[in-house]
Amino acid sequence: MTYESAPIGALDSTKVPRFAGPGTFARIPDLSQVSDYDIAILGVPFDGGTSYRPGARFGPMAVRQAARNLRAGFHVELDVAPLKQLQVVDAGDVPCSPYGISDAVGEIEDHTRELLGGSNRRIVAIGGDHTIALPMLRAVAREHGPVALVHFDAHLDTWDTYFNAPVTHGTIFRRAFEEGLLVEDHSIHLGIRGPIYDQIDMEQDRSFGFRTIRANDLDVIGIDGAVDAVKQRVGDVPVYVSVDIDVLDPAFAPGTGTPEAGGFSSRELLRLLRQLSGLNLVGADVVEVSPAYDHAEVTSVAAATVAFDLVTMMVTGGRTAREHAPETDSAVR
Ligand code: MN
Ligand code: MN
Repeated sequence: MTYESAPIGALDSTKVPRFAGPGTFARIPDLSQVSDYDIAILGVPFDGGTSYRPGARFGPMAVRQAARNLRAGFHVELDVAPLKQLQVVDAGDVPCSPYGISDAVGEIEDHTRELLGGSNRRIVAIGGDHTIALPMLRAVAREHGPVALVHFDAHLDTWDTYFNAPVTHGTIFRRAFEEGLLVEDHSIHLGIRGPIYDQIDMEQDRSFGFRTIRANDLDVIGIDGAVDAVKQRVGDVPVYVSVDIDVLDPAFAPGTGTPEAGGFSSRELLRLLRQLSGLNLVGADVVEVSPAYDHAEVTSVAAATVAFDLVTMMVTGGRTAREHAPETDSAVR
C-alpha cells in the first residue's frame, strides 16, 4: 500500500458531532482524501431487478445516514480497531442507469473492477436490490478466481427467469453458478424460509451445489451449529458474503422489498457473522434496504451495522489483516 503513514480513520465525533459533517459511511474518508486503500464501501443504487416493492435504489443513502452513529473506533466483539489496521474508504456510489438491467449490471461490474484495480483491495457493496451481487461476483472472481458464497437471505435467489428476464434479484446465483463464479459444492444459504413456487426449486438449487440452513434449522442446531456447518462447507476457499437484509425478520427489517415472516433477529445475524470472522473474505454486500418502507431507521441501522461488521471481518480474517498494524494515537471516537 502506498499511504504514507497510518490509515486515516473516521472524523472525531468529540469535535464534530455525529449528526454533522460529511455523509460518508461512518464518517470515514472518501476516495479523494487517501492515496490508497485496502477496503472500500461502495454504494450501488440500482433497484431495476426487484420483483415486488421497489425503492432499494435509496438504500446506500439511508445506510450511510444510519452509519453516522456507528462508533467505528473499536469493535468490541472482534477485539480490533479496524480503521487503524487497514485503510477503509467510502468510494461513493456507482453511476448506473436506472433504465436497463444489462446496462446497469455492466456499469457496476466495470466500476467495481476499476476500484479493485488488480490489487488485494476489497469492497463491501451497499445495495441496491440483490441484482447487484452478480456484477460484484463477476468482478471479484476476476481478481480472486471462483469463490465460496455465504448467502444470508429469506429467498434462494437461484430461480431461472422472471418474466423472461435472466438477471433479476431472484436469479443471480443461478447465473453465478452457470458462469463458474462459484467454487462447486462450497456455497451455502442461511435463513431461507417461506413458501416457494414448487418443490423442484429446492432440488434444482441443491443441484447447483448449494446447501441450505433454513431459518427453522437455527432453532435446532443453534448459531454455533450453523457456524460449524458454514466453516465446513467453505473450507479454505476465498469467500464472498452476501447479506439480503430480508434474512432478518420483518420486525427487525421492515424496510425491504420482499419481507417474509419468521426470520433471524439482528442479534442472531450479527453473532453468526462475527463467529465467521476467520474466513478469507474477499468481497461482500448488504442489499435490499428499501427506506420508504422503513420506520425509525430500523432496517438501515441493522444494515449499517452489518456493513461495518463485514469490513471488520475483512480486517481480522483476510490475508492483509494486521500487515500494517500501525498502532498510533490517531484515535477515533
Ligand atoms: Mn430475499
Ligand atoms: Mn435476495
